[in-house]
Amino acid sequence: MFDLKGRVAIITGGNGGIGLGMAKGLAKAGARVVVAARNREKSSAALRELKALGSDALALTVDVTDERSVEALVADAAQQCGRIDILVNNAGINIRKPAHELPIAQWQQVIDTNLTSAFVCSRAVYPHLKRAGGGKIINIGSMLSIFGASFAPAYGASKGGIVQLTKSLAVGWATDNIQVNAVLPGWIDTELTQQARQQLQGLNERVLARSPSGRWGTIDDFEGIAVFLASAASAFITGTAIAVDGGYSTQV
Ligand code: NDP
Repeated sequence: MFDLKGRVAIITGGNGGIGLGMAKGLAKAGARVVVAARNREKSSAALRELKALGSDALALTVDVTDERSVEALVADAAQQCGRIDILVNNAGINIRKPAHELPIAQWQQVIDTNLTSAFVCSRAVYPHLKRAGGGKIINIGSMLSIFGASFAPAYGASKGGIVQLTKSLAVGWATDNIQVNAVLPGWIDTELTQQARQQLQGLNERVLARSPSGRWGTIDDFEGIAVFLASAASAFITGTAIAVDGGYSTQV
């Protein structure tokens, strides 16, 4: 039920953080993983980790904010791997500023990277998933898909949009046997949040105090959910958003 042997998975931003956690889960379940990101050095390091798990992984360079770059990535992955079954829309950034200090260019950069990219990547893989007889798309949202934050208006808008995009794609492509779901990570220890800990005073203490699990998430916490949502185990689950947050969103 959880076996992904013979499946090909593209993971945007799969060279670090949550994307790499998911890549490791999928690789352990037997999938051939395509790490898709900009930084080649980080991608090579990720590839070494995935190969050490026995995966026939490959790394391709992409800028998810560039439609042509995404189309080239998908064509290249399909050509090298022969098929595409799974897409994880994980690439993301945050620019932490209150709305009254956020220039339009930075608003646009966050929306393009976090939200428009998920649409462009999903649209590009759709014919390949259809040809394979079905497939899986996993979109990465956030606690800010649910809550607001004074310091992240563009990020919050992009992550709220991810949940609604997930529902529309799920409804639109259900009869093609394509399941589209979102994962909403809580506070996870990655490069993104190491930056946040420096920028937001007292963040570490607030996260620990509010989390029932009493800890930050790690990238390893994303292996299981990736396998579940990419495998036959979730064949009748689509359009949903699953929090992976140690209970953070269940209490005030
Ligand atoms: P990281 O900063 O560790 O990873 C972000 C990844 O996105 C990097 O691999 C980066 O690779 C890639 N990326 C960024 N911009 C682009 C681009 N234009 N084109 C291609 N790839 C890009 O962050 P996380 O692992 O923490 O974040 C991963 C996802 O999880 C994001 O969507 C984030 O919003 C979400 N998330 C994270 C949370 C957390 O607590 N950490 C909480 C909630 C959601 P490269 O620079 O090489 O291109």
